[in-house]
Amino acid sequence: MPRVYVVGAGPGDPELVTVRALRLIESADVLVYDRLIPMELLKRAKPNAELIYVGKEPGRHVMEQGEINNLLLRKALEGKLVVRLHGGDPFVFGRGFEECSFLISNGVECEVVPGVTSAIAAPEQFLIPILLRGVSSSLAIVTGREDPGKGFREVDFRRLATSVGTIVILMGASEACRIALELIQGGLSEATPVAIVTRAYMENSRVLFTTLGELAKCQVTIENPSVIIVGRSVSLSPLYNTSNPIRH
Ligand code: SAH
Repeated sequence: MPRVYVVGAGPGDPELVTVRALRLIESADVLVYDRLIPMELLKRAKPNAELIYVGKEPGRHVMEQGEINNLLLRKALEGKLVVRLHGGDPFVFGRGFEECSFLISNGVECEVVPGVTSAIAAPEQFLIPILLRGVSSSLAIVTGREDPGKGFREVDFRRLATSVGTIVILMGASEACRIALELIQGGLSEATPVAIVTRAYMENSRVLFTTLGELAKCQVTIENPSVIIVGRSVSLSPLYNTSNPIRH
């Protein structure tokens, strides 16, 4: 039976991939890849491998999801070894699940290779202990941006505010100010520490430490890609308390 490998490529550093991911990249006939993967990994592909970019930038898609699904299916049915590379982990706000479901319903097997997700790696790069006994015993990983077409929002930041130890927000760059306001309205203090980690494990990665109150003033510009971390564990980082953004 034909099979597609839906593979996590980690947060940005080409060394942060699994052995299995690397083996598959090296043997793929077709590599279908995202915007946020470590591009150096593509150099490991076979010389005659077909490399297809299907990245999605905020607000701009090179290829719609339906087209990506069909591409994977078509290449697999041609008998090719198809590897679909996702940034981070393929099932953490990636479309890996949709791709697998589509392939399976069309008679193609799908194997998932987990990846190191930015949700956990980004705080770790700057020594933020998102889950730590006595400090934070629960973690919510949420999206900061939802499809406006849905007509409602699934993430209720006011209710989330005091229900978990640490909140990790992906895709939150453009919504950070509104989110900070809602978290304060939901009962978190303005002094709650926040870290904004930009380009984790990529070139020029950096962290900005701030507070919810500051973020709610809408004066911080956040670049993509960034992970926003909210909660007491942020202040435990040995890098915390610096007035300037730290460059790594
Ligand atoms: N599947 C990916 C997440 C896809 S959603 C994963 O598991 O990491 C895309 C969002 O992930 C971005 O908007 C950003 O919030 C976050 N992200 C991905 N890579 C990142 C990186 N290297 N540094 C900071 N944020 C990153």
